[in-house]
Amino acid sequence: MINRWIIFAACLFAGGGLGWWAAAKDGLGLGLLLGAFVWLVLDSLYVGRLLRWLRTEQSKETPADLASTDASPPGLPGVWGEVVDRTRRLLKNRDQQYRESQARLDEFLAAMQASPSGVVLLDAQGRIEWCNQMATQHFGFDAQRDVMQHIGNLVREPAFNAYMASGDFSHDVVIPGNFSTPARPLKLSVHVHGYGKDRKLLLSRDITAVELAEAMRRDFVANVSHEIRTPLTVVSGFIETLQTLPLKEAERSRYLALMAQQSQRMQTLVSDLLTLSRLEGSPFPGANDWMTTSALFAQCEQEARALSVLIAPQGHQLEFEPGPPCEISGIQTELYSAMSNLVTNAVRYTPEGGLVRVSWTLLEDGRGEFKVKDTGPGIAPEHLPRLTERFYRVDRSRSRETGGTGLGLAIVKHVAQRHGAELHIESQPGHGSCFSIIFPAARVRRLQAA
Ligand code: ADP
Repeated sequence: MINRWIIFAACLFAGGGLGWWAAAKDGLGLGLLLGAFVWLVLDSLYVGRLLRWLRTEQSKETPADLASTDASPPGLPGVWGEVVDRTRRLLKNRDQQYRESQARLDEFLAAMQASPSGVVLLDAQGRIEWCNQMATQHFGFDAQRDVMQHIGNLVREPAFNAYMASGDFSHDVVIPGNFSTPARPLKLSVHVHGYGKDRKLLLSRDITAVELAEAMRRDFVANVSHEIRTPLTVVSGFIETLQTLPLKEAERSRYLALMAQQSQRMQTLVSDLLTLSRLEGSPFPGANDWMTTSALFAQCEQEARALSVLIAPQGHQLEFEPGPPCEISGIQTELYSAMSNLVTNAVRYTPEGGLVRVSWTLLEDGRGEFKVKDTGPGIAPEHLPRLTERFYRVDRSRSRETGGTGLGLAIVKHVAQRHGAELHIESQPGHGSCFSIIFPAARVRRLQAA
């Protein structure tokens, strides 16, 4: 500040000196005035340059403007130079803070974009201020076009509108998602959370898979209960009869035989259920346990012949072609369970005297095919995709008659998947069926003849 006084004094001194020199005493007053005027002109010039620079700085709005160095600060002397310097530092700090908060905001928005949930920010009037990519998919919004649109105009679902109108956001609401169709239903769970001053954060989650799993669980429990209740009712009915009625020996033994049959059915069902749960819970089979196909074939053949005699007095034509001596790697009990399910199914569904051919072939690419072909009733094409579902049966009564649980092919599919194998089903009504499991080359090796 002292400089400012010095310059002012210097201007007065120079002006006064000039006046004195020009007109002695008379010129002194005029000279002083002239000096003060020169000082004022110079000072206004500096102030003008300073104001021009400040106006340019103030007009900068976008980050690109802020980064531009078009209008560099004017170099001014004295106190104005200091004002410029301090203002420049202040502006630099402001720019730095702006850039930092902008970077933080960008990171925050990027995190919200990465969220697996849909995120929508609503203002106090329920208008969309911002939404992430997932929300645009869930609701069919356009992230640019729909900004500041009222959410009620874009999400027309009555349940959602009632939820928003109720103001009770202690729970979520489930609504159909964008593009939901009866064939491909899409379920969204939407939950609103209040924040700030009447603002709302809306989170949406795709719960289609969860709902599907829950429906499957419900179906499964209902199916199991139904399957167990039927034989249980029969058994308890017979027990009551045996307890209350004086029966002849022949009748008693007939009833006991029927009870034994029903309890056997329950046992098979429980055993299949346990097999399935073991398959789901146990680790994947390693590649170091090898077993011969001939041993697996021998077990299947023994079982098939025993079953054939049991269910058809005249039996079936059973042909077993074990093919080249090979080994398969995996879990023996699982492989046997899968193969025997296919073989026993063929025997059970093929009428008396029909042909069941079981074969093992080494394919050219090193894979191994276990195939079961029968001359049974065949299966209509519409059933084929659903055969491996639990409890799915084409012929319910035939399945029950022959002791089926409806879980056999589900077990086969699981075992095949766990061993990296494929299950193929070919069938035509009236032309028999052909089930095959194709094992990957890595799990099959040919044995050298001794
Ligand atoms: P199930 O215990 O009822 O046999 P599966 O899961 O083994 O259950 O088979 C599902 C359904 O597929 C059976 O109920 C039957 O209708 C049909 N099926 C399976 N194998 C054959 C076959 N070889 N021939 C005709 N139908 C079959």
